[in-house]
Amino acid sequence: MAAKTFWNRDIECMPRVEIQQLQLERLQATMNRAYRNVAFYRRRFEELDITPEDIQTIADLQRLPLTEKEDLHRGYPYGMFAVPLREVVRIHMSSGTTGHPSVVGLTANDLRHQTDLVARNLTAAGITKEDVVQVFFGYGLFTAGFGYHYGTEAIGGSVIPVSHGDTQRQVEVMRDFRTTVIIGTPYYALRIAQTAEEMGIDSHELSLRIGLFGGEPWDESVRQEIEDRLAIKAFDVYGLAELGGPGVSFECEERVGLHIAEDQFLVEVIDPDSGQVLEPGQSGELVFTTVNKEAFPLLRYRSGDLSSLNAEPCPCGRTHARMSRVSQYTDGRIVVRGINIFPGQVEEALAEIDGLGKEYQLILDRTTARERLEVHVELSPDSTPDQMRRLIGMEGQIKDRLQQTLGLAVEVKLVEPGSIGPGADRLRIVDK
Ligand code: ZN
Repeated sequence: MAAKTFWNRDIECMPRVEIQQLQLERLQATMNRAYRNVAFYRRRFEELDITPEDIQTIADLQRLPLTEKEDLHRGYPYGMFAVPLREVVRIHMSSGTTGHPSVVGLTANDLRHQTDLVARNLTAAGITKEDVVQVFFGYGLFTAGFGYHYGTEAIGGSVIPVSHGDTQRQVEVMRDFRTTVIIGTPYYALRIAQTAEEMGIDSHELSLRIGLFGGEPWDESVRQEIEDRLAIKAFDVYGLAELGGPGVSFECEERVGLHIAEDQFLVEVIDPDSGQVLEPGQSGELVFTTVNKEAFPLLRYRSGDLSSLNAEPCPCGRTHARMSRVSQYTDGRIVVRGINIFPGQVEEALAEIDGLGKEYQLILDRTTARERLEVHVELSPDSTPDQMRRLIGMEGQIKDRLQQTLGLAVEVKLVEPGSIGPGADRLRIVDK
């Protein structure tokens, strides 16, 4: 039997005029829900002296201001929810630009739609119920692990929830369980390849055939390397915790851009500086409006991801617009082991500790099997020798504070005042 090409052909190949009609109907319901139930959005409409009824076309949407990550933090934890907590069946988190993350809720319907998107994603890559799927995205407060887990179950595949970490064990599981599909971050896939090679395992002897990778920027050369070293076909996938998780967009077998689930999201591209909406094909920041979410509706949410849109028909038959692969961010974020880190988070955590200077540097080491993040922090030039001695003894405490804020393990090194300096890059990547 030929593999299924579409999970939901009616939706995925819907004529574009019908998609736009569906978006508009759903947008109006979403705006009403947000207006009635989320104080933040109600205020926004009131400030403009309009109601959701005044937004009659998709172009009218541009009258509404953008929703920023900061707006979500201000609602922490449940201020942006449009339903009472008793209707929420799942709670996830998204890292924020400063210390406070935002909290994302899903109702049973939201979760069903979310799972459906991932099922589309898997099916588009040629994954079927015959596959044994090893998920090495982290399972936890972030959305990707659980998202792919339930999506795999929905298509009837066998899911192995290995989660992140212990690379040798990943390889053993891959070999012994005869894994056919791997899903996780691209650089971790390369670490797995390296570990397999060190263990003397030839990837051609494994059963692997497909990999889905996302959560951090990667390019065609990385794709080539993953495909060569693991003997698989590699696909780019895109999701956002604030939008419910993975499956927001994905590559089909053509691999010429990522199809956006336009029945669920309305997407615009803006100039990140002026906020002006750009023409199709122009590169700018992706802005998403959810059109089918109950618990956590977002109107014109700035993703911080740089991309461009293409609504031309795709040879695969899908009609949903494609976005180009995200290779840059507009919000200064870096991604370590699939987790977003914003310099503001580091700054805020460090500012709480007396005796530290203003300058710091993040050093991301990608040369070892596990990405390491080292944070170098200058001591304050005003510190007394006594304070300095005390601070050096406090490295462990600073490390705990940062780990708590960032949600991942870091190394901390205190350095002499002036040794980093104000002109230095905030981030240094050590590659092989
Ligand atoms: Zn396509």
